[in-house]
Amino acid sequence: ADSQPVEDELQGALAADPPLAPTEEFLAELADHSQRLETASPQEILAWAVERFAPRFSMATAFGPEGMTIIHMLSEIAPETPIFNLETGYQFKETLQLRETVKQRYGIEVEFKYPQQTVQEYEAANGGPVYKTDPNRCCFDRKLRVLKEAARGLHAWASAIRRDQSEDRAKAPIVGWDKKFQLVKISPLANWTKKEVWNLISKHEIPYNPLHDQGYPSVGCWPCTRANLLGEDERAGRWSGFQKTECGLHD
Ligand code: SF4
Repeated sequence: ADSQPVEDELQGALAADPPLAPTEEFLAELADHSQRLETASPQEILAWAVERFAPRFSMATAFGPEGMTIIHMLSEIAPETPIFNLETGYQFKETLQLRETVKQRYGIEVEFKYPQQTVQEYEAANGGPVYKTDPNRCCFDRKLRVLKEAARGLHAWASAIRRDQSEDRAKAPIVGWDKKFQLVKISPLANWTKKEVWNLISKHEIPYNPLHDQGYPSVGCWPCTRANLLGEDERAGRWSGFQKTECGLHD
């Protein structure tokens, strides 16, 4: 309930610049494709997405192992696909470095998208770090708002979520309608396991965040990420201590 005013604000802003219309017919078409692509490989799903939606197809990545896997696949299928990262100003230096690594390895320039205010301006305007008092607001201001801006003009985006990551994500279709962003959301790795992702990473020596080797299975902003304890869920180290497991991008 806390996030309702910001949700309304987001929907209002989207209404001002209408993107794809989710007509019944279009949603039925997406459901058909989703069903058909259940048995397709991630590469086939991406190839379909590019054919159907490029150049209005893009991808947002936080440079997680799944995102790196998709970047690797896109480098072979459609390296011109625009890819961006929400640079909140609170990312680890190891994460920021991956932008350079991707450029060197694949010749792909991931674009940093920044919030309007720098971290210093934002904290000064709010009397200190908002992540400590209201992480939902902080994620809204420094991620969702920026993503909403980035989504303008797009028709579809790729997401790196896997169904076995959490109960919420277990329901993700391969191709679905993202109400929040008014975009088609394509999840090529929905049916993959963590093991399949890491197998591909080691097989092709795909670059990945070195923090994963230091006990961080899921890496977000540094103030809201801690290393996992043995046996914990893979996203347990995110927003630890808050009743929060998602930044609002995927729910
Ligand atoms: Fe702010 Fe934390 Fe969300 Fe990053 S993850 S935007 S620091 S609340």
